[in-house]
Amino acid sequence: MTPFAFPPPAQSTVPVEGGDSVFPVRRILCVGRNYAAHAREMGADQRDPPFFFAKPADAVVVGDKVPYPVATHELHHEIELVVALKSGGANIAVEEAMDHVFGYAVGVDLTRRDLQAAAKAKGHPWDAGKGFDASAPISAIVPAGRAHPDGAITLSVNGQPRQHGQVAAMIWTIPEIIAEASKLWTLAAGDLIFTGTPEGVGALGRGDRVEGAVEGVGKLAFTVV
Ligand code: MN
Repeated sequence: MTPFAFPPPAQSTVPVEGGDSVFPVRRILCVGRNYAAHAREMGADQRDPPFFFAKPADAVVVGDKVPYPVATHELHHEIELVVALKSGGANIAVEEAMDHVFGYAVGVDLTRRDLQAAAKAKGHPWDAGKGFDASAPISAIVPAGRAHPDGAITLSVNGQPRQHGQVAAMIWTIPEIIAEASKLWTLAAGDLIFTGTPEGVGALGRGDRVEGAVEGVGKLAFTVV
């Protein structure tokens, strides 16, 4: 085999709850505006169809500390249910989509809102606002057989409630999201899909303690440093 020109980067991984294995991350897709009230607070028509953007696989952060990113004065939290895939394909039927789910996690789609707003204003891509280093804090993945992601989705900062919604209020359901994404990309084992955030997004500063939860899945907590 032709050798690598230099050592390849480390594989991004997420722990699997209750197991002795880790989940290798291939791609991270995110759904925009999947809760009507959040779509409204961002100034969008709630009837707009949801859309996708991406974060790099090495944006995942596992652990208690998340660095405040460079180049922003407006870091926002977005609590989200994350779907982890064990298989994939193209043009997956809605009825078969759940067969590809490995499990679920609690994630935060960290956003440099000032950069995202500037990109929106100019019609530029969102990568700098969404796909930056350490922009995807995530909990351990709970295998699908032990998770029931159908309850409340919440986030607090320093003990103060900020976001509160219901997973059942998602505009597009989990199988619909998988089916729609697979029309645009060939999905595969290792893919993570952040499924959108309910209303109540807001700013974070250094020292803030963030606690998120998805009822039936688990919890996520970290401090911004
Ligand atoms: Mn989001």
